[in-house]
Amino acid sequence: MTVGDRRRVSIFGATGSIGQNTIDLIARDRDAYEVVALTGGANVAQLASDARMLGAQVAVTAHEDRLEDLRAALAGSDVQAAAGRSALIEAATRPADWVMSAIVGAAGLEPGLRALEQGATLALANKESMVCAGPLMLRKAQENGAQLLPVDSEHSAVFQALIGEDLSAVERVIITASGGAFRDWPLEDLDKATPQQAATHPNWAMGQRITIDSASMFNKALELIETREFFGLDPEKIETVVHPESMIHALVGFNDGALMAHVGPPDMRHAIGFALNHPARKTLPVERLDLVKLGQLTFRAPCETRWPALRLAREVMQAGGLMGAVFNAAKETALDGFIEGRIPFTRMAGVVEEVLTRLSSQAGHNAAGITLDKVSEADHLARAEALAVMQDETWQD
Ligand code: NAD
Ligand code: MG
Repeated sequence: MTVGDRRRVSIFGATGSIGQNTIDLIARDRDAYEVVALTGGANVAQLASDARMLGAQVAVTAHEDRLEDLRAALAGSDVQAAAGRSALIEAATRPADWVMSAIVGAAGLEPGLRALEQGATLALANKESMVCAGPLMLRKAQENGAQLLPVDSEHSAVFQALIGEDLSAVERVIITASGGAFRDWPLEDLDKATPQQAATHPNWAMGQRITIDSASMFNKALELIETREFFGLDPEKIETVVHPESMIHALVGFNDGALMAHVGPPDMRHAIGFALNHPARKTLPVERLDLVKLGQLTFRAPCETRWPALRLAREVMQAGGLMGAVFNAAKETALDGFIEGRIPFTRMAGVVEEVLTRLSSQAGHNAAGITLDKVSEADHLARAEALAVMQDETWQD
């Protein structure tokens, strides 16, 4: 369904890195879209200016205390202003044809589920949705005739390599990792790494949290689990390799030995645009690769001493059930601890591992019985445990 022949679109997390790249694409062809809802956080000036530019029905800030600022910034326009979690959920239930899920963290799960319930095509940048509640996301999509499309560059690459293929012929999937900010640091220096250093990515321009997660490889850990959930692959078939140039995003190996690679410059507008135009392929404003200029591409084995998050991801995939939700919530809390200077960079994995051990009873839940309430409960438990683990720790940098 469309308004006239315009597609109705909403963007959750519109003020973030993925949200802004999505707006960039939509703004280039704005007459093709009817913008329903844009949501953001504290940056109400950006939110209001984008909502005005695109003529959105409603702009929602997650922060209730920013409602007056948002209203003021929207004065004189037809855009409705709203604030708070319930307003965000209400916006997510407004019918739309295509929705970008680009809130960071488990906070993005429920808005995405509500959009699926409306039958919208959900472009999923929020990998946490699949990590915390993969079976629930797939079930909601199926029950409502909605389509889920991956936006994470690796998963978009796998999705594209699988078009026209039979999943039973897949031998392995390799997702690549840049290695993040500390790829080449001596191991003994990692203890002293600051949030600012960790939030500097060699190749990609992304939000602060995912950039730090790239340095610790918690991002890749989430993506391994996301690969398992999204494509229903056995964990043994999913690998990662360090590829410092970030040009190959993923490779799919078939049982005849063929290995199909998806190659492109690190620009999220490719994966976003692919999901926006699917099943068509339209021209996108991304750089075209000059292979000769590129010269060579390199690969390294991922070191689990440097990146223990990769080992934890394997354990989570084996355990199944609600352990993905536990893992993600513990990781989010440990990341807050690092950003706020309460624990060193190298302690994040230890905190997460301790929480996984304490809450191992959450493993083995029947996938078919996973509900939003159960996921929220596991999430809250894990956050409380992670805080308890970190409570007595002191660290001076
Ligand atoms: P970001 O920090 O730049 O933006 C996050 C957005 O979510 C902002 O609009 C912010 O206001 C909003 N937000 C944050 N907390 C919220 C809350 N509690 N309630 C409601 N809104 C909230 O993040 P990003 O880099 O754009 O990443 C967004 C998602 O996409 C993440 O799940 C990330 O893992 C995933 N992703 C990002 C990239 C990238 O290139 N940035 C690539 C692949 C996947
Ligand atoms: Mg990715």
